[in-house]
Amino acid sequence: MTDHSCLFCKMVARTIPVKRVHEDDRCIAIEDINPQAPTHVLVMPRTHIATLNDLAAADEALAGHLLRVGAEIARGRGHADAGWRATFNVNRGAGQTVFHIHLHVLGGRPFSWPPG
Ligand code: 5GP
Ligand code: ZN
Repeated sequence: MTDHSCLFCKMVARTIPVKRVHEDDRCIAIEDINPQAPTHVLVMPRTHIATLNDLAAADEALAGHLLRVGAEIARGRGHADAGWRATFNVNRGAGQTVFHIHLHVLGGRPFSWPPG
């Protein structure tokens, strides 16, 4: 449920203070400390799940909730029509550095494909 050594669990628990741009009973969202676009928000569940590899069937609704909250944040910042990027990095080979799942919501600039 909570991993006391996990940075994002500490943010959820307020052991480490961080400004929340959204919160509800299942997730919180914060501004990324090292933004890669004008909008760079991280949406994370309150519960500790290390990577998407660890998602259980019981987490399906939670995973969908993270996506819907991310879409609402993107819409609220005016990115719905121009386009925005939703990313989960999974494990180190894909760039994951914090092992508590989080949706990157990136917007406000053009995005190329394939990603780097
Ligand atoms: P990952 O690389 O795991 O997909 O994403 C982790 C993200 O967390 C990175 O974009 C990184 O900039 C962000 N991050 C790491 N430490 C902190 C922090 O202390 N505060 C905030 N707001 N973001 C952080
Ligand atoms: Zn955690």
